Amino acid sequence: MLPAFRSKVYACTCSGARIATLHTMLGSSSVNAAWIAASACAAGLAVGGFHYAALWPASRIFGRSLIAGKDAAEVALTYDDGPNDPYTGQLMEVLARNQIRATFFVIGRYVRQKPRLTRALHEAGHLIGCHTMTHPRLMYMGAKRIRAEIGDATALIEDTIGSRVRFFRPPFGARNPAVLRIAAELSLTPVLWNVSSKDWKAGSPAEIERYVERGIALNQRRHSGSNVLMHDGSHLEMGIDRRRTVTATANLLGTATRDGSRFVTLDRWSPAS
Ligand SMILES: [Zn+2]
Repeated sequence: MLPAFRSKVYACTCSGARIATLHTMLGSSSVNAAWIAASACAAGLAVGGFHYAALWPASRIFGRSLIAGKDAAEVALTYDDGPNDPYTGQLMEVLARNQIRATFFVIGRYVRQKPRLTRALHEAGHLIGCHTMTHPRLMYMGAKRIRAEIGDATALIEDTIGSRVRFFRPPFGARNPAVLRIAAELSLTPVLWNVSSKDWKAGSPAEIERYVERGIALNQRRHSGSNVLMHDGSHLEMGIDRRRTVTATANLLGTATRDGSRFVTLDRWSPAS
């Protein structure tokens, strides 16, 4: 085969028609090359499909997760990666001023560092969920490590707050069939989201508010409640600056309440059996 043709085959971008055209051009002696290209494309699609199934919040390929209810007026604010001193406390003050309860997916190793702050969250009426012990990408791990990450954190949180933990959010939303099976074995409901605040990279509170307001509006057009992903902490370190999230939350509570939204915790959409 001519080098020019060879490079064209391997540069194929997963188009069946394009492979067929190349096949015609190359003749039967090059069937193997075209077949290899097609296989490579199929493998590429498989990898893409795996990442969609593992990471896209709305994907149900690996199993169902709780996202939101059908009442478009209902909004659950959910905060991941805490407890984070002092920003979790500041957020609690904002929520208390507005008499709003939220859901916090806490990281086990931070719960161990800040047990009193974790207890204060629970005692203020917020719902506490498990966000693993160390915030790894569970989709790349074996069952034993997955079980330890979820199970140990759940046990630690339950010991700390003196109450059962029923909800679990996989870090980065990354899951696979083993993650969902182990969560079910531990009687945990897996939770994803349908609004991302992108607060970990937003440059201002106003930017966070725009993402959240757009997401809620989109869900309302789809007749769905909103499960808003925000962060009171970070898996990278304790004490990371979340002032933008605190300010955005204060502003959102004002505007969303005026617009008729009702703030709920996740158990609203998944009653205890
Ligand atoms: Zn997280």
